[in-house]
Amino acid sequence: MRHVIVIGASLAGLAAVDGMRRSGFDGRITVVDSADSLPPDRPPLSKQVLGGTMSPESATQPMAARLDDLDIELCLGIGATSLDAASRRIALSDGSTIVADGLVIATGATPRTLPGALPGVFTLRTLEDSVAIAAELDLEPQRVVVVGAGFIGAEVAATCRSRGVEVTIVEAQDRPMQRVMPGSIGDFITTLHRDEGVDVRLGVGISSLLGSSRVAGVKLTDGTVIDADLVVAGIGVTPATGWLEGSGLELGDGVVCDETMLAAPGVVAAGDLARWPHRRYGEHLRIEQWDNAIEQGGYAGRRLVSGSAEPFAPVPWFWTDQYDCKLQLAGRVAPGDEVRVVDGSTAERRFVALFRRDAHCIGAVAVNRARHAVQMRAKLSEPLLWADALAHFGVDDR
Ligand code: ADP
Repeated sequence: MRHVIVIGASLAGLAAVDGMRRSGFDGRITVVDSADSLPPDRPPLSKQVLGGTMSPESATQPMAARLDDLDIELCLGIGATSLDAASRRIALSDGSTIVADGLVIATGATPRTLPGALPGVFTLRTLEDSVAIAAELDLEPQRVVVVGAGFIGAEVAATCRSRGVEVTIVEAQDRPMQRVMPGSIGDFITTLHRDEGVDVRLGVGISSLLGSSRVAGVKLTDGTVIDADLVVAGIGVTPATGWLEGSGLELGDGVVCDETMLAAPGVVAAGDLARWPHRRYGEHLRIEQWDNAIEQGGYAGRRLVSGSAEPFAPVPWFWTDQYDCKLQLAGRVAPGDEVRVVDGSTAERRFVALFRRDAHCIGAVAVNRARHAVQMRAKLSEPLLWADALAHFGVDDR
């Protein structure tokens, strides 16, 4: 393999380059991205940058600092418009085509938007989005409505509230962060926001945005009207696979890969758009988290240039910061799994909870217990008996 093209210069794409170089690949690497500048590091966008405690310039991604070492040809402002996977021929938005020996697909995802766009209604994905919402907050809005209580929504709500703004959250599900979090931890998040003075409305969606020249409120599906002079929607993302229609790759809520992130011979995918069968959990996963972008990107790069690899089967890991809580979650949890607090208490905002499925512990969440979170993440990389996990915390099985 002499020439690899990486499509998408965000965290997963650059981590793939890093993985290739670390495994000794000294061939040519071209990285293309339709954005005019490198994508930022996303975690601060809904926290420090939005809160005004970090300058936008500081939100550079961790890999960007190492660009010189990575020895790449970086083509910004140029997107891939189509692919023929069998011949690895890519058409680019500047009208050119390139045929590569290897391809890394890392075009990420785009945020879903509410129907009926109006000024004053935002999504948060880019640095520009974060800066624009922060500028709106500087104007001291009366009330912000945050639609969706996933990662983005919950963090935006916390940041706005910490800036002293009245906030309402509208979440269609019965609990926040339901996609990744067990119900009782979702309840903890609800209580956290309510205790901080957020009006949390669950099990109700938005039926329309109100206002003419600018948003003035939202109408909920139960008929309630909430006034708002700023609306931020964090209602999920769609994998950016439109340009891959007709490529010959299997698409299905992302780019479908094998256990080693291979989508076709000489083609790997990584990051928000990659879906793969996770050997340990026996299901296809697509993970939209920061940590996964780095791990999976690095893995996919190594796998592409070295030709073979053990299946990619990490312990999923993420964190979120809301108010004074750092919540970290390791593992994979389903709605029916038992959750047991084994250390601290939710009332103190300091606890560890373990997730049980059959005889095993399959995940853990820690709030303001970083050391335990890291320990549990390491333990979960091997099958962990429930009794052993409890014993680690000095808890008897009841
Ligand atoms: P994000 O990365 O944007 O936070 P998630 O998928 O983690 O994405 O969370 C999105 C949340 O938005 C989910 O909890 C989902 O139930 C909620 N949601 C999606 N559409 C609507 C809607 N129209 N009104 C209210 N909540 C919504």
